[in-house]
Amino acid sequence: MRFITYNAKNFRKIEYIRYLPETIKRDIEIVAKVIPFKTNNYVVDYLIDWDNYENDPIYILNFPNRDMLLPEQFEQVKRGIDQKLPENELYRIINRIRMELNPHPAQQMTNIPELNGEKLNGVQHKYRDIVLFFPTQGQSCHAHCTFCFRWPQFTKELDLQFSMREIDKVIDYIRKNEYVHELLFTGGDPMIMSPATLKNYIQRILDAKLPNLESIRFGTKSLSYWPFTFLPIFNQEAGEMLDMFKQISDAGIHLSIMAHFNHHVELDNEVVQEAIMNIRASGAQIRTQAPLLNHINNSSKVWAEMWKMQVNLGLVPYYMFIERETGPYKYFQVSLSEAYKVYTDAVRQTGSLAKTVTGPVMSAAKGKVQVLGIIENPLDGKKQFMMQYVRHRDYNQTFRPFYMEFNETATWVDQLKPLIANS
Ligand SMILES: *Cc1c(COP(=O)(O)O)cnc(C)c1O
Ligand code: SF4
Repeated sequence: MRFITYNAKNFRKIEYIRYLPETIKRDIEIVAKVIPFKTNNYVVDYLIDWDNYENDPIYILNFPNRDMLLPEQFEQVKRGIDQKLPENELYRIINRIRMELNPHPAQQMTNIPELNGEKLNGVQHKYRDIVLFFPTQGQSCHAHCTFCFRWPQFTKELDLQFSMREIDKVIDYIRKNEYVHELLFTGGDPMIMSPATLKNYIQRILDAKLPNLESIRFGTKSLSYWPFTFLPIFNQEAGEMLDMFKQISDAGIHLSIMAHFNHHVELDNEVVQEAIMNIRASGAQIRTQAPLLNHINNSSKVWAEMWKMQVNLGLVPYYMFIERETGPYKYFQVSLSEAYKVYTDAVRQTGSLAKTVTGPVMSAAKGKVQVLGIIENPLDGKKQFMMQYVRHRDYNQTFRPFYMEFNETATWVDQLKPLIANS
């Protein structure tokens, strides 16, 4: 199948769009000025139920809607368009709203390591054993998630250009840091790279024969947004991609595909299922992760069904995240107490093989915080959250449980007060 991109300028070409009311189309155009909009023919034809688009999880995942902005933000953009403001004036308004949407949360641009006194702009090293690499050619995606926490990367104006091509420096860095055992390719989506580009990186890593490198991961949404990447019967490059996966495993390095699935509908067709089988046959393991999102998957039934399907297809459920506070997060956010309930209800509905999933987890400044429970203090009868760092930048702090005062509506750990007992 040929890849066709739809964005704010050409989305009216999507056949199903004809049936949408004109007001909805107009809303998409207005909101897409602020939130980067991109989808493609696979998502549109295979994943979205157009008869019920308003409640369709994948429609909401890809198509901006007016509730994703505050009413006054929406009105400001709308007025600017209606008044036919000159481009630069309209962009001033748009960029001001983007700044209100907290474009760079949780110190994403920190944890940048140095090699021989030079900052590696395109590498993050936060947790002792794992290094993240942002290859320049992998900084976009086959489609854009409306909630995306890396959305500034998809806008010219806010892009901090955090990426690099010099894999030799990354190799050198890993060699010099014996505690690093894993290398994670991330983005954007590294699987939008052609196999030739990716192979260029991988070959150099394999040739380096790093004694401390045990696994390579690819963080990707391509199984949901373009599974043809892994179907040789549809395109020749897929065969090269799978061969490269096999080459990694054959070199004795574990390859883990960190697949991003938000909803079980993304697993429910022959294309994605065959892609999964092909990847597994290459020797790679697929682990899955996704945030909990209001309007998309805020239901224990959806998660339980998704994990059941994943286990049946041989995938390993790995993380359920709390949505970060960026972009249209107010539209998508779920409170910590509700997230904890969704997670536990979902795990209870699945068999033991789905219990590999850790959740709900916040990727916070110091590390990944898991909500372990809501309990009553036996001394004063007050509710409190029990939490732990499943990952901490100081690895000695990992897995130490701690308590925070309970707050029904809090959506992030920094909104909670620590209990005195912690200090
Ligand atoms: C989540 C994350 C990782 C990977 O953590 P795992 O728990 O091993 O999956 C690595 N680096 C950063 C900066 C992260 O946020
Ligand atoms: S696939 Fe990941 S990086 Fe790409 S838009 Fe979605 S959340 Fe963002």
